[in-house]
Amino acid sequence: MSIIKTEDFIQSIADALQFISCYHPLDYIQAVGRAWEKEQSPAAKDALAQILMNSRMAAEGRRPVCQDTGIVVVFLEIGMEARFEAGADLQNLVDEAVHRAYTDPANPLRASVVNPPYGKRKNTGDNTPAVIHTRLVPGDKVAVKVAAKGGGSENKSRFTILNPSADLVQWVVETVPTLGAGWCPPGILGIGIGGTAEKAMLLAKESLMEPVNIQELMERGPADWKEELRLEIYEKVNALGIGAQGLGGLTTVVDVKIRDYPTHAASLPVGLIPNCAATRHIEFELDGSGPAEFAPPRLEEWPDVTWQPDEAAIQVDLDRVTREEIARWKPGDRLLLSGRMLTGRDAAHRRIQEMLERGEPLPVAFRDRFLYYVGPVDPVGDEVVGPAGPTTATRMDKYTEMMLGRLGLMGMIGKAERGPEAIDAIRRHQAVYLIAVGGAAYLVAKAIRKARVVAFEDLGMEAIYEFEVENMPVMVAVDSRGESVHQRGPERWRARIQEKGT
Ligand code: SF4
Repeated sequence: MSIIKTEDFIQSIADALQFISCYHPLDYIQAVGRAWEKEQSPAAKDALAQILMNSRMAAEGRRPVCQDTGIVVVFLEIGMEARFEAGADLQNLVDEAVHRAYTDPANPLRASVVNPPYGKRKNTGDNTPAVIHTRLVPGDKVAVKVAAKGGGSENKSRFTILNPSADLVQWVVETVPTLGAGWCPPGILGIGIGGTAEKAMLLAKESLMEPVNIQELMERGPADWKEELRLEIYEKVNALGIGAQGLGGLTTVVDVKIRDYPTHAASLPVGLIPNCAATRHIEFELDGSGPAEFAPPRLEEWPDVTWQPDEAAIQVDLDRVTREEIARWKPGDRLLLSGRMLTGRDAAHRRIQEMLERGEPLPVAFRDRFLYYVGPVDPVGDEVVGPAGPTTATRMDKYTEMMLGRLGLMGMIGKAERGPEAIDAIRRHQAVYLIAVGGAAYLVAKAIRKARVVAFEDLGMEAIYEFEVENMPVMVAVDSRGESVHQRGPERWRARIQEKGT
């Protein structure tokens, strides 16, 4: 029998969370490196280079790869011969580890968890509680898998119960385009097949903890039906041409993982969960001999890719930019932004709407300014702001008319596509929507020279800041005529892949 010390258990999980916040799994980042090598779409290749460069910088700086440092998910396999010290309550122990990791002054991680989940949605302040799944297994060890799952990709999870005679591949291939780009591809698809409704989702989530190894599978060939399915889905999803960040390109997924379980004769439950450019997970085992240790990977193992701002990019002075100037921008144009912009995301938009409804004056003027959808990580040392990448813009679609029409905003910066409602408002008000690379948060933050909270400080990371930026790299995603790069890019690349193959 082994005795797992409370402190060892807590510290191991806390260290694992700190570790995965700054170090991508090597298998994932090397797969992105291979995708970069073969990518032919210039926009997707640039996005992949930013993701790779961001990953290396985060590892070097020991800072989060993404501003969304995730909700913590822990899978525990507890040997029936293992014992925890007296008084242990698993949820409390894991939550203590999450608290310790997310409030670590050397590398504070963003607290993103809100409670209650509906209604007031108040931030719990330390990212607790974690979601834990526990299984009793033979043996005297405790196996722990720790993940920090980003909201953008978790939001794109899907579930269905198919007719047992239905074509599962067809469902996946039809479903992936409906996810848009808010899950920050290229990533991994986790698919759970069978069991019951909740079991299929759990299988999908746990499959994402497995190593990225589809290249090896392609080389040796499939050994069973699941491997055949993985290959078929991998090829068909990549043939959709969605590409990195949904810009159109050759690689949408770097792997497809599948787990299965027997199911009822009348059912075919299927869970689908994507993992994103901030794929973060690690596993370790405790045997009572002390805490787990995590050796930082060697930087030489990162793909040798350096990203430089495009010399042909249009320089934009945000303090002087005019409506006439933005009317000349086209979807896919690369810009380097300098000057001042405001920030705001879900909670700030909701509060602005409530204040307008009550007839209250707003604390900040938006007319002719740009608004960046972001919730940054707190800074450390001499940083102006912590990692500060874009959040999914689609969530702000319902506020777009209010922001552009009533408040006179000129442009927005976020990630992923906009829906018809927002595109319509952009066209009507001759505004513009720009994107930064989701998951390249540390790289983007390096362009921010000054940051100060200008309103709603109580909202924490959701407060309205004013950022002063220098050469912040973005791309025009929706121009003032309502043309969208997320429609044109994948269409063009899908046609090209069908015509020429990859
Ligand atoms: S990479 Fe994208 S989806 Fe993933 S955590 Fe970061 S912002 Fe969210």
